[in-house]
Amino acid sequence: MRRDDERERWKPLLPAAPIALASGARGAAAAEFAWGVASSAFQAEGGDVPNDWVAAARAGRVPANPGNGFWERAERDFALVAGLGLRHYRLSVEWSRVEPARGRFDERAIDRYRAICDAACAAGLVPWLNLFHFTHPLWFAERGGFLEPRNHPDFLRYVERLGRALAPHVRHFHVSNESMVYVVAGYLIGENPPFLREPSAAFAMTRHVLALHADAYRILKALEPQPTVATIEVYLDPRPADPEQPGQRAAAERFDAWYHGALLEALATGWVRVPQRDPEEIPHLRGALDLYGFNFYCSTSFGANGPGTASELPDPPRDALGRAVNPAGLETGLLRVARALPGVPLLVTENGCPTADESFRCRYVAAHLAALERARRQGADVRGYFHWTAVDNYEWRHGFAPAGFGLIGFDPTTGERAVKASGRWLAEVIRDGVLDPARIP
Ligand code: BGC
Repeated sequence: MRRDDERERWKPLLPAAPIALASGARGAAAAEFAWGVASSAFQAEGGDVPNDWVAAARAGRVPANPGNGFWERAERDFALVAGLGLRHYRLSVEWSRVEPARGRFDERAIDRYRAICDAACAAGLVPWLNLFHFTHPLWFAERGGFLEPRNHPDFLRYVERLGRALAPHVRHFHVSNESMVYVVAGYLIGENPPFLREPSAAFAMTRHVLALHADAYRILKALEPQPTVATIEVYLDPRPADPEQPGQRAAAERFDAWYHGALLEALATGWVRVPQRDPEEIPHLRGALDLYGFNFYCSTSFGANGPGTASELPDPPRDALGRAVNPAGLETGLLRVARALPGVPLLVTENGCPTADESFRCRYVAAHLAALERARRQGADVRGYFHWTAVDNYEWRHGFAPAGFGLIGFDPTTGERAVKASGRWLAEVIRDGVLDPARIP
């Protein structure tokens, strides 16, 4: 593809004239808007931890994860990220490190997480700590994980233990990341551990992850000092590949009603309505969030050959995983969540793309910041933007290939970091508070 052709392709997605970001350093709400990066423990730390993903890698079902060295280098990574003008860092705890065997907590691992949070603060970054990001200790997975209600107290004990240990060091917690992705990938389409394809298990899990969120929210809010606790879900923007096809329309609507509809209704009302199960009220789920963490990557299409990605453009740019770019999904998703959960502030807790092309990454981020700004101007109370991710990391079943999501790359032999052109570009956007098309590479 010639460079000019590629630029043409991006044209409808990028602002035609400079946009002053109210979120920017010179905007009115500057002090409020949170610019950050997001990461997860296992994806960055990797290593030989006793969890279900390491077991799956040993069994040859997913790639092995040597990590990017964050566990040892967190302090240096924080300095690099802070140097770009970012002020928030979302990270998570690898449960299998801190509770490698049921009921046996490893105080040294907890101390390291405490030191990591303190180091973030010392570098001028606000840590946002998530307690569950797709991985389970092997002992927990082998007992049946969340699918077995008798195991729920194990998770809540871990939440309480970590909450108590870290609350004095962290003001913002998340119970889990994208619990619905966890449910779909692990229980409906069998791509992630435990590799099941059982709709009834997926629907039961929907109820369980929501109930666990409510319980964990209550535990975390009882801590001193009291933290904020936010949910995090990815917006998939389901749509039919061909709107003329009633079957595809129905498939997209069914999926949407469960994946987004049930979740938003449950958080708003406490009522959990999922297919194949009687409606159930979990009263303390109603309003159990101080902030809605909104992740967005791409829109999902339901077509004749199953799900794919969708764009409003006939010939959209595509990332290294072949996913079509569609920032309109971020805009409509933010507005939808804002309507469903009035009064709940929103935070874009993940957005980014896998690419080896730095112009692509800058354009992708620019197009999504422009969409965020459109949503904000239509009334969505968006408080920040966290880029996924800081340093290239393990992309689950895709391993470290084909290309990273990071603003910072690393040398797998030495671990040395190098800020990418997109990192430098984003630093300028944050500094100036302006999205200037003339300066988008
Ligand atoms: C997940 C991350 C993942 C990212 C990019 C999100 O759904 O939270 O763990 O790396 O997407 O695919």
